[in-house]
Amino acid sequence: MQSIGGLHIQYYEVCKRKLWLYSKQIGFETEHERVIEGTLLHESSYARKEKELAIDQAVIDVVDGEFIQETKLSSKMQRVDEWQLLYYLYLLKQKGIEKRGKIAYTKEKKVVEVTLTEEKERQLKRKIADINSILTSEFAPKLKKMPYCKNCAYFDFCFITEEDADAT
Ligand code: SF4
Repeated sequence: MQSIGGLHIQYYEVCKRKLWLYSKQIGFETEHERVIEGTLLHESSYARKEKELAIDQAVIDVVDGEFIQETKLSSKMQRVDEWQLLYYLYLLKQKGIEKRGKIAYTKEKKVVEVTLTEEKERQLKRKIADINSILTSEFAPKLKKMPYCKNCAYFDFCFITEEDADAT
């Protein structure tokens, strides 16, 4: 079974088909897309952080004893960001470390607090089970056009394949 990382959670929330394509290593994220999703923001500020925690392949900033923090460009994917951070809180809890989370959005200069409640943990476990079933599925989830598609690294793959299918 594939181990689940923060990116799996992110893709699951954005598009289950994207999650499946990523897990099969079909294509890869473009630099452009990584910038959009704020990944590079963290990498560029890496050297400035004093205390960090490595959780799966992510490096999380420890703000103080109680909080871990992620820094993102904008809050347009806030729901997705929150689930990703909840997943990191969940992984920490598995290691016996209980924290709360903060997401700092640099563009809007706002900070959102995230808490892994019992209910959130239940929902997260359901998501993890669903992610596992997508990852072990032989076929990609059906294509569902959405506004995010135009920023997705798999856009050509999804839509050229569809056009080909339509043409046959
Ligand atoms: S292009 Fe759209 S449907 Fe295809 S993987 Fe990306 S988000 Fe999903």
